Amino acid sequence: MKIGLILLKLLKAMNNFNFKQFNFSLIKTPSYVISESLLRHNLEILSRLQNETGVKVLLAQKCFSMYYFYPLISKYLTGTAASGLFEAQLANEYFNGENHVFAPAYKDNEIEKIASMCEHIIFNSFRQVEKFAPVVKQNNHQVGLRINPEHSTQTHAIYDPCAPKSRLGVRLAEFQNVAKSKPELVDMLDGLHMHTLCEQNSDALKETVDVLIKNFDQWLHKIKWINLGGGHHITKPDYDIERLKRVIKRLQDNYGVTVYLEPGEAVAMNAGFLVSTVLEIQESIDNISNVIIDASAACHMPDVIEMPYRPDVIGDVPDGKYKYRLGSMTCLAGDVIGEYAFNEPLNEGDKIIFTDMAIYTMVKNNTFNGMPLPSIIAVDESGNINIVREFGYEDFKQRL
Ligand SMILES: *Cc1c(COP(=O)(O)O)cnc(C)c1O
Repeated sequence: MKIGLILLKLLKAMNNFNFKQFNFSLIKTPSYVISESLLRHNLEILSRLQNETGVKVLLAQKCFSMYYFYPLISKYLTGTAASGLFEAQLANEYFNGENHVFAPAYKDNEIEKIASMCEHIIFNSFRQVEKFAPVVKQNNHQVGLRINPEHSTQTHAIYDPCAPKSRLGVRLAEFQNVAKSKPELVDMLDGLHMHTLCEQNSDALKETVDVLIKNFDQWLHKIKWINLGGGHHITKPDYDIERLKRVIKRLQDNYGVTVYLEPGEAVAMNAGFLVSTVLEIQESIDNISNVIIDASAACHMPDVIEMPYRPDVIGDVPDGKYKYRLGSMTCLAGDVIGEYAFNEPLNEGDKIIFTDMAIYTMVKNNTFNGMPLPSIIAVDESGNINIVREFGYEDFKQRL
């Protein structure tokens, strides 16, 4: 790979977002720059999937909560999935659509408000159903339960809710026990939820649904909907969407249920950039020069360290003559984004543009070391820049 392929893919998706013409040098750094046309590219794929199958797609807000775009997203998707009160509230204010929520546990003093705002409230245990389902029913809203199908399709334990000792979802044995000892709790369920994937194709989903059907068949007949969670990389070019459609149809045909998907990444994948500036270039140590930029992995793209992975940078080529190790202004020795090679030497003041920076970035960032938060910028279909939000000293101070 890479840059050729990536640029090609990007350019294909870009429609009116002309990368070459877009003047990144006008952007104050660091900034997240989110393109409406790149976002729309994903939304059109998801909306076609809804139209062709009857599946309902929700935006998982924990991945991308830039509510500036909620009016646009709500034209394409059915609704949102929240991880708790605040995300549910954000969707309630800005997203015109269904409001779903799942949390590993709800708090006594929050459940009333959540139950009034969210049509689907998904619980993580039968105890939580017992405690809070009456409040949900009073609001004429729906009760769901997250199950753990106990079928891992990935090896990355931190992102695997089916990993041993997982706290996420009810296992079959417990479900069977409760069905015997307290059947009224099972009767209260309007739907089931599972979330087991992370950045995966539909083969992993199919396998998991096979297990789901094998183990939960009798209860699937009793519910109105099944939510298959997120982690479906639907908008990636190599995603097998036809197999996804077959999985959806099988559930619809067998059980007469409404099927929900709640992807985060697939909604805003490749729709944004993190733009930073080269502050200093050090003497090379090992034929690779350390470069200090005004963006930080630890603060602005924490998945680079957590996953970990090496984000793509515009202009990086495998056999580039000029080699650099991009690192941040923070004091953290490990706040290095990666090694890159360019055909032209870098200079102070140059822009370094990281790709695929809409997802799991602004929702996760922080001000460690007193680092400023990146501005949030939207680029509309005509290429106009709209500075949605800028941050300063007060934002740092207010959190302390
Ligand atoms: C994280 C999460 C999602 C979204 O996952 P993506 O990998 O961003 O698609 C959806 N549902 C639940 C319950 C999640 O925890």
